[in-house]
Amino acid sequence: MSPIERVADKLEAPDLDNRSYRVIRLRNKLEALLVHDPDTDKGGAAVNVNVGSFSDAEDMPGMAHAVEHLLFMGTKKYPKENAYNEYLTAHSGYSNAYTAATETNYYFEVAASAEPGSEATTNGVPSSPLYGALDRFAQFFISPLFLSSTLDRELKAVDSENKKNLQSDNWRLSQLNKSLSNPKHPYHHFSTGNLQTLRDEPQRRGVDVRKEFIDFHDKHYSANLMKLVVLGKDSLDELETWVGDLFDGTHNKNLPQMRWDGLQPYTKNELMTQIFAKPVMDQRLLDIYFPYQDEYYMYETQPSRYISHLIGHEGPGSILAYIKAKGWANGLSAGPMNAGPGSAFFTVSIKLTEEGLRIYEEVVKAVFQYISLIKEHPPQKWIFEEIKGMAEVDFKFEEKESASNFVRSMCSTMQKPLPREWLLSGTDLIRKFDSDAVTTALKYLRADNYRLTIVSQTYPGDWDMREKWYGTEYKVQHIPAEFVAAVKEAEATTAQNRLPDFHLPHRNEFIPSKLTVEKKEAKEPMKAPKLIRNDETVRSWWKKDDRFWVPRANVFVTLRNPLASAVPANSVKTRMYCALVKDALVEYSYDAEIAGLEYELGDYYVGMGIDISGYSDKISVLLEKVLITMRDLEVKPDRFKVVKERLVRGYRNHDFQQPYHQVGEYTNWLVSDKGWINEQYLAEVTQLTPEDISSFYPKLLRQVHLEILCHGNIYKEDALRVTDLVESTLQPRILPQAQWSVARNLIMPPGSDYTYRRTLGDLANVNHCIEYYLFVGNGVDRDLRAKTLLLGQMTDEAGFDQLRTKEQLGYIVFTGPKSAATTMGYRVIIQSERPTEYPEERINAFLAMFGKSLERMSQEEFESHKKSIINKRLEKLKNLDQESSRLWSHISNEYLDFLQREHDVEHIKPLQKSDMVEFFNHYIHPTSSSRAKLSVHMIARSSPKNVAAHISPTEQKEKVVTLLGKYLTTMGVNADVDKLTSRLEAIDVAGGDQVGIVDAVATYLDEDVQLSEEKVDAVLEQGQQLLGTILPSLGIEVKQSVDGVDGQNFPEAPPVKKTTFIENVRDFKASLESTAGRRPVTDLTEFEDTEPKL
Ligand SMILES: [Zn+2]
Repeated sequence: MSPIERVADKLEAPDLDNRSYRVIRLRNKLEALLVHDPDTDKGGAAVNVNVGSFSDAEDMPGMAHAVEHLLFMGTKKYPKENAYNEYLTAHSGYSNAYTAATETNYYFEVAASAEPGSEATTNGVPSSPLYGALDRFAQFFISPLFLSSTLDRELKAVDSENKKNLQSDNWRLSQLNKSLSNPKHPYHHFSTGNLQTLRDEPQRRGVDVRKEFIDFHDKHYSANLMKLVVLGKDSLDELETWVGDLFDGTHNKNLPQMRWDGLQPYTKNELMTQIFAKPVMDQRLLDIYFPYQDEYYMYETQPSRYISHLIGHEGPGSILAYIKAKGWANGLSAGPMNAGPGSAFFTVSIKLTEEGLRIYEEVVKAVFQYISLIKEHPPQKWIFEEIKGMAEVDFKFEEKESASNFVRSMCSTMQKPLPREWLLSGTDLIRKFDSDAVTTALKYLRADNYRLTIVSQTYPGDWDMREKWYGTEYKVQHIPAEFVAAVKEAEATTAQNRLPDFHLPHRNEFIPSKLTVEKKEAKEPMKAPKLIRNDETVRSWWKKDDRFWVPRANVFVTLRNPLASAVPANSVKTRMYCALVKDALVEYSYDAEIAGLEYELGDYYVGMGIDISGYSDKISVLLEKVLITMRDLEVKPDRFKVVKERLVRGYRNHDFQQPYHQVGEYTNWLVSDKGWINEQYLAEVTQLTPEDISSFYPKLLRQVHLEILCHGNIYKEDALRVTDLVESTLQPRILPQAQWSVARNLIMPPGSDYTYRRTLGDLANVNHCIEYYLFVGNGVDRDLRAKTLLLGQMTDEAGFDQLRTKEQLGYIVFTGPKSAATTMGYRVIIQSERPTEYPEERINAFLAMFGKSLERMSQEEFESHKKSIINKRLEKLKNLDQESSRLWSHISNEYLDFLQREHDVEHIKPLQKSDMVEFFNHYIHPTSSSRAKLSVHMIARSSPKNVAAHISPTEQKEKVVTLLGKYLTTMGVNADVDKLTSRLEAIDVAGGDQVGIVDAVATYLDEDVQLSEEKVDAVLEQGQQLLGTILPSLGIEVKQSVDGVDGQNFPEAPPVKKTTFIENVRDFKASLESTAGRRPVTDLTEFEDTEPKL
């Protein structure tokens, strides 16, 4: 066929990558990257066209985006509009596309192989789904029809896409920056478009919009500006033939790349101004925008990487460390932002505290002082080497991404002027240190070359403008002369008069240097770790990675000490201690984080736990630092105050969580032998003093038992060394086994039925919640476990369908197994505005109904449930972290049941329907005399009625009008309170006539505001949801419409026995027996791999 030019076939790739690559160019100048992946179960392809919203006509914003939507509407070869998507759906695939400033990207994913048993070709056409999809896909770039019958619908899709974004601050603030930029630069464009810009207004001007779209396509779509990526299981030669055959017909118009080199998004009109913008969400931001250079061709040096590394640093001496210590900010990010060919911004974005917002000028000055520090030092080679080194490590050990993600992002990368051998590493790697380039780049960060944006819901409050496309309220002004002068002064500081807090970062000791992984192909990966040390002080477990071959590891350490949680006061002291240690390590651990190393320190019922995860080379460096900080912590009163405030706030906020997040805590508390709840912690935490912590924590460390797991790229000797490190740093006394705490649960006797009621702490919440818990038995009883798991699977969809979809009891409905320390059961959670007795009754009805359908269930359906739950239990481990946490959970729960999943499957397989019926009738059925039940009811203190008692119907109506007015304003609709009030005059608002309210608002929008029909629909659709929450919050009970849920015939609830209310929790617990404690299911010696004792 056509002569195909081979451009490259050796691509720089990650170490673990087993794909092969080839870059080719067709005679129409279309360039393609072919990828052969022997293991993939999905194939995919993407086309990226080098045109986007920057090329939109001034009077038709959104054109490029509309063309993207319309291109898919039929081709000459496959005229049916959805032929492409139908084909993809039939072969487990899907497609998507996006439009950016100068590119439009189309991509799809599809099954990699044909059905087993089918022929390789049918009538000479390859039967691979990838070939079939490519054939349909290619036609969009050869002979699209832009079917006129689909025009209106696709423009409506564009319109609703825009509506979805209207309340998103990201979109609103980004457009505000665009709208307030140089109107001559295409960055100024509104890129999404809507019905008004793409249909209504052009039609009013007499424009044939469909013709405009076709012309746009003719003018800008050319093979020489297109990149193609195809990934499949098929060989590169095969893929090459397919691409040559299918894409040869794409027209080449030899178009030049569009550039805007002579223009800048900010001119002197935009520079040195400050914009105050009001966000939808409660957030406070300060953004500094510097006009910056386009680094398009600087992929080898990328000077902005050096600058963003320093400005964005969080370690000692950094901007963030300083403004955080001052209490001005919680976060900072910095980096370049492309604004199209020829221009860019360098942005510094800061999350402010309330105090920081008040004195934001000081924050800006601090940033400029730090910039003067960077400029004062010549660019440092060693800093560059650190950035380069980490980039290399991350690229080298990158894991595969999905087919569609890969083709999508790679296709965009292909538009960059990179040597084709570097397509995969792209701009991830940074190759050359160019000191002059950094110095030049830094010249853009000047005190006469920026613009500020200050985002807050309250400050300054006098926004007087409204952004055209999203309706964002804002105000813009020149930066006052005094402030300009102060910033210039900050920029001019020198080592003599600069804040002493600022200095360049120290060398990062965490950058990994040894990254070798020894890959020994194991026939069968090991399921359990080895026990490499087992004595009175320590139990140390180890497993060398035999699946993932990454140079990473996870280390877990438990410091076992019953003191940590003996009483609630101890629990909060332990938690406070952990928080103080973390606070002391914040700046230090930032270096580790940059180098891909993280740690966690926390309290739990047996003591404290340290988890460290990352590149194995430097794990012990970080572990040692954590241990030393723990051992030598000095409790500083000022840090204590800050950390305690945060902790107290956390315990207080607990009561304001959604009730369904709270309910489980009470159930767990009621069924455990020991354990505490939030209110007990809260009572203690407010009492804490610094002395409490400094006198308590040495006791936590003095006498402990250590349990350790090292898993990953780590040898036995290293794991033993980690063990020694913990032991020698802390030097604890032995905690005899007899003093280890034993976790047990309480046994709910057969036939028991208890209810525990609690009122919600949040006075304003109107949602009740119920957890309906059925006790089954001991968690290690393999047969009962298999049946409970299978029951969970069988009721999953059925419970949701009946209780949520059909009966609409509430938005939150969960059903399924629930396990405690030593026991397991089955539970249903419902959060509902209905008083808890009602969902309780409906759950009884559902279970009775399910019991009947279980008896009637066909053998086929029963087997398919079994298959589903077995597949879930046997799902492949995806990465090292997942395996590590699974191993650790089996160790830390003391059962050492590493083969639990295999045992589950063995016990599910033989289950017969009759077994399940018997199980269900014994443990679950509401009329069973042998089941054991505990219900926890969370009672909302507020209710529509309750609220109503404190508010008159007139006030209710006024509030509804005010809230509706607010809502309309945020939708960019004029809200005239008087007119709105008169429209609602005859409506029974206090009586909850939601239908009437909606109708009245519709009339207002239609007649008073004269909105278009589409806009009215959009406003009402969201408004209706809003009414659902504002009416109850004002004490108004919404009237059920005639076809509401009450009118239906739901299954009847069976009569059940009377429940016993738990009045005194201690008495209740004392009345129950407890289970055996946790003990290994396999003898420890089975895992031992220890040196012989002498
Ligand atoms: Zn779209």
